[in-house]
Amino acid sequence: MDKDSIFDKSIERLEEYCVENGFKKYGAGQIMRWIYSNRVFDFSKMSDIPKTLRENLAKKFHAELPEITDTQYETDEGGSSKKYLLKLSDGNYIESVLINYKNRRTLCVSSQIGCKMGCVYCETSNLGFIRNLTAGEIISQLLTVENDNSEKITNVVFMGMGEPLDNFKAAEESLKIISDDKLIGIAPRKITISTCGLLNVLKNLEMNGYKYKIAISLNASDNFTRNMLMPVNKKFPIEKLAAFINGRKSSAHNKTTIEYVLIKGVNDRIENAKKMIGMFSPSNVKFNLIPLNKDENSLFLKNFERPDEETLNNFKLKLSKAGFTVTVRFSKGGSINGGCGQLRAKTRCF
Ligand code: SAH
Repeated sequence: MDKDSIFDKSIERLEEYCVENGFKKYGAGQIMRWIYSNRVFDFSKMSDIPKTLRENLAKKFHAELPEITDTQYETDEGGSSKKYLLKLSDGNYIESVLINYKNRRTLCVSSQIGCKMGCVYCETSNLGFIRNLTAGEIISQLLTVENDNSEKITNVVFMGMGEPLDNFKAAEESLKIISDDKLIGIAPRKITISTCGLLNVLKNLEMNGYKYKIAISLNASDNFTRNMLMPVNKKFPIEKLAAFINGRKSSAHNKTTIEYVLIKGVNDRIENAKKMIGMFSPSNVKFNLIPLNKDENSLFLKNFERPDEETLNNFKLKLSKAGFTVTVRFSKGGSINGGCGQLRAKTRCF
């Protein structure tokens, strides 16, 4: 019988498992703490758990992490980044990037292998959609990278391969474990979910009172341009996204981030900045400008260029003069293709 990954099991599922097998329900919490708090993956070493339960667990579950098949490291004056190529148990590959910046160690996780969204500036969409990751595969990225660095990850961003809200059930299960202070313990305010704008799921998230930070990839100031860049805009156009963003409760520490990939001649004019100033308020959004990342050899992105520095600075200045907080993300990991939109399995085995 094939064993299930223990990382895919929620506390509720493990409780059921314990009860079904004649053990006390609270055994589930003990197992979870051994794994996520103590990082003990060998069931036989979980010393305060009855021996029969340990044996039972070992028969039913495995606790194997993905294999690190490659890493690439890069430093710059602000910090460093390390890109991991991870091999999953079915032979597929995913990537995660650890970004060290000031006193933060942020892990950029993947939520899917490939992506269905079809954004024309993003290399992951060029892969097509292979499959969703399981909750355990999302959590395993953190466990693997932390294990490799022996330093705690402080922040998590769902900005790797895939659209997290297109695989929200698994993302949600992983988030419960990642943010539980008895388990991995990264507070929701240190976790950012980046989305191309799947409004139906976003609204649900809001209704459920989740405290994760939200980043929305807007990337255009008008529907004509956004339709061309992001097919999802036909379903959830800019005015609907703007209404949602403007209706969110916000505080100085919890504004919606608007991500905006700057592409030369496509969305980098002052006019575009002006439109966004008209659409949003500095009290509830901040901008994250991302000059297009592109591998010089990319055939997929051959028609797109990064704007020059002057254009970027003028765009930034226009927004900041209107009172918005603006950061420019010169993607960490740019030169190792670990920058935004460039995460793609380099070994295709599917
Ligand atoms: N699907 C999610 C998360 C993955 S992409 C989303 O769309 O938000 C993470 C960020 O990288 C997004 O803001 C996206 O707009 C940006 N991005 C994608 N391709 C890029 C590229 N080639 N250069 C710069 N940023 C890119």
